[in-house]
Amino acid sequence: MEVRASVRSNDAARIAAPPERLLNEKERARIAALRSYHIIDTRPEEVFDELARFAASIVTAPIAVICLMDEGRQWFKAKVGLQGADAQFDLAELCACTISGSDIFVVTDLMENSRFAGSALVSGGVNMRFYAGVPLINAEGHALGVLCVIDQVPRELAAEHEAALRTLSRHAMAQLELRRQLSLFICGGKANQGHYSALRHAARAGEFVVRYQPKVDLGSGRVVGLEALLRWDRPGHGLVMPSEFIPLLEESGLILEVGAWVLQQTADRYSDWRRKGIDTPRIAVNVSPCQIRQSDFLDVFERAIAADPRDGGGLDIEITEGVLMENTEDIIRKLRLIRDKGVRIAIDDFGTGYSSLRYLSGLPIDTLKVDTSFIAAMTESAEGMAIVSTIIALAHVLKLTVVAEGVETQEQRKLLRLLRCDQIQGYIFSEPLTSRETENLLTGVSPLERVELSARSAGS
Ligand code: C2E
Ligand code: MG
Ligand code: MG
Repeated sequence: MEVRASVRSNDAARIAAPPERLLNEKERARIAALRSYHIIDTRPEEVFDELARFAASIVTAPIAVICLMDEGRQWFKAKVGLQGADAQFDLAELCACTISGSDIFVVTDLMENSRFAGSALVSGGVNMRFYAGVPLINAEGHALGVLCVIDQVPRELAAEHEAALRTLSRHAMAQLELRRQLSLFICGGKANQGHYSALRHAARAGEFVVRYQPKVDLGSGRVVGLEALLRWDRPGHGLVMPSEFIPLLEESGLILEVGAWVLQQTADRYSDWRRKGIDTPRIAVNVSPCQIRQSDFLDVFERAIAADPRDGGGLDIEITEGVLMENTEDIIRKLRLIRDKGVRIAIDDFGTGYSSLRYLSGLPIDTLKVDTSFIAAMTESAEGMAIVSTIIALAHVLKLTVVAEGVETQEQRKLLRLLRCDQIQGYIFSEPLTSRETENLLTGVSPLERVELSARSAGS
């Protein structure tokens, strides 16, 4: 085999570049990125050792290492073929050259290279002659370290071996990424433990309450639906909004317990109002993806409406687009079964996810709720208006009822009426109301206009 004298031509620039030039803003950002992985000074791990072993065996080289470049020092996460004092050899300069580029860096014979010929790498215990390293680059473009193979004889690196090293370096980077996600999760989890136990306590102590926001038919001006919205009436804190605690309920798994409670509470409220002879519209409950994913979701729903299961107990459900994009078969089967009970299914916040109307056409869905952001943009530009107009028209082709969310102004209301939107929900008519206020609204004690005024002056 022909052995090239020294550095590959495309790698010459990297060797010529002084290491000092790395000591700049970019290097500080790189060090910060490396530290975010919490990998430096951790114990050896089999998965990284295995990657190094693979690299050595594929290239048939005696030595392979995964070396991370911390501030002013090299640190080996995995080492193959190095023992004792040899294991302390200084790779920093070669690694620095490698991470200053974005692709594999090969020195076919260090002895033939003026920069490395006299170094301890060649003359010392390792007797290093050949080096090939691939930078470990993360998604933000920071090179954290290298995966490299070393030989004690000068040699070439075949194209397929280069490709294999690149692949292994991507795997090493993926492992590092996994560790970062895991440590973020564990640290985040620890930080949230206090919140979780406060929420667990809130659930047991009955601190959650449900508010109801009317949905109004744009043609008749009548209340044709309600949406149940959860609040945490936290002692000493006032009413806490869902954006502050729903993600924590979901992360901790408490959403299953609290979500089942919302279903039960809403079903009980509905049948209570009906028993009193109040003309009660259907009430929609928001259901989290993790609730639907549970194998017993249908049982939970049936239990909630068991006292009066006719027409799905008067309940509808609202789900987000994302739910339909995952494990679709199972989810759709559940949605069909629940729909067979008379429950109507709405896609909430439509437009914020990735689903298309075309995709929704074959699914068991009755209603599309156009997200607040589109309604707000509608009166700001012709494009905003065109988007809402198109969504409404296409949804009607698919025989879906369209609800506009977050309607706040008369201008929006008028435009939506012109665009033949079916229903609107928003502060223009009413904020979410307590059960008593909702009962007053439904019995005509406080007509919609008065509710609008009182809700605005009294807050929630
Ligand atoms: P959502 O289902 O899209 O609910 C509509 C949100 O818009 C509600 O916020 C409502 O108070 C707010 N809203 C109503 N009218 C207007 C308006 O005119 N302008 C603006 N800017 N906003 C308006 P809320 O009550 O803070 O709830 C936020 C989200 O929390 C809900 O969004 C829903 O995704 C979630 N959520 C609420 N209750 C539950 C629940 O029981 N279970 C689950 N899983 N999620 C819930
Ligand atoms: Mg909703
Ligand atoms: Mg919504």
